[in-house]
Amino acid sequence: MNIPFSPPDITQLEIDEVVDTLKSGWITTGNKTKKLEKLITDYINVDGTICLNSATAAMETALRFLGIGEGDEVITSAYTYTASASVIDHVGAKIVLVDTLEDSFMMDYNKLNSLINEKTKAIIPVDIAGVPVDYDKLKEIILNNKDKFKPNSEIQKLIGRIAIVSDNAHSLGSTYKNRKTGEDSDFSNFSFHAVKNFTTGEGGALSWKSIDGISDEEIYKRLQLLTLHGQNKDALSKTKLGSWEYDIIGLNYKYNMPDITAAIGLAQFKRYDGLLKRRKEIIKYYDDSFKNTSIEPLKHCSDKYNSNGHLYLTRVKGIAETERNKIIEKLAERGIASNVHYKPLPMLTAYKNLGFKIEDFPNAYNQYKNEITLPLHTLLSDEEVEYIVDNYKEIVNELTR
Ligand SMILES: *Cc1c(COP(=O)(O)O)cnc(C)c1O
Repeated sequence: MNIPFSPPDITQLEIDEVVDTLKSGWITTGNKTKKLEKLITDYINVDGTICLNSATAAMETALRFLGIGEGDEVITSAYTYTASASVIDHVGAKIVLVDTLEDSFMMDYNKLNSLINEKTKAIIPVDIAGVPVDYDKLKEIILNNKDKFKPNSEIQKLIGRIAIVSDNAHSLGSTYKNRKTGEDSDFSNFSFHAVKNFTTGEGGALSWKSIDGISDEEIYKRLQLLTLHGQNKDALSKTKLGSWEYDIIGLNYKYNMPDITAAIGLAQFKRYDGLLKRRKEIIKYYDDSFKNTSIEPLKHCSDKYNSNGHLYLTRVKGIAETERNKIIEKLAERGIASNVHYKPLPMLTAYKNLGFKIEDFPNAYNQYKNEITLPLHTLLSDEEVEYIVDNYKEIVNELTR
């Protein structure tokens, strides 16, 4: 057996759509990208979407659009991928990290509340593994801190409170209280990187909910300016005969999604319901198999939420970091690729250099030390899933006996 961790699920449908684009005479940002934007907007019930080249670019752009920069603070989880935090630094603001709840991959909401001050301009919650954060709780905390909020841009004034710029890199299609993730955020950010549920190879989307005092068309226009050189006319509009002239109104960035990439997304969209269904089947089999063992999986649904099943996170009760690493090695010897989500940010060099210490994030460390993520993807056969379960249980049993 040789079971990869998360290979891309690409069929003839994706290939045909890309070939169609290549033959069409238009390969950069154009109608296919616009079509994907519309599909995403409708799918997650938001008011607009711009497709970009990554979730990282999307989050960074949301912060820039909000006018967040030097002197501001943005809070995110210590238990995430670096992109949720590095974007705060990209815009010149201060990264504030919050520990997780005890025995949970979610932010500690009380600690989050205590970290809010007059400099706090946004919170970046992370829907880890596809499981939505407690958006109602988050909104309640933000409303309770409304009088501390000091807006320093036009958009911040319009919003009038700390903004939710969510990291939904894992959670396209997840629901929280029957609302799609994205609906509860001011700005939601999705990743279509090669290892995600829904992929365009590389890519991402920035979606938003309407803001009183500015139209969705104006928001789209400003986001386009921020992500395409600050040029007031995109490549498609410039192709109109005689329409050569343009202006540059900001020294901006280059984050657009080309149509070749969007084409993959259009095909993935047609298949997405089926892909999510297969993920659910595998999760159910895993969950049933690990009942009454020392393997404790992350819950993908509850009465409050329904995850899209992006990653299968487990924790092995009672083991230390070294034992966890041994299990991963043994799985690898048997041809099973596994992973750890995540090494908390304060354990990584760049964050240590900023002064973060893992001792200040004890819950995040405890989540990390015994965490193992199993393969969960739509190319897995039933036999492979069974093989993973049998071997994982056997290895864990030998080690914890
Ligand atoms: C993949 C990922 C990102 C970054 O997505 P890109 O599209 O590669 O920029 C951000 N946050 C989390 C939690 C991720 O897993």
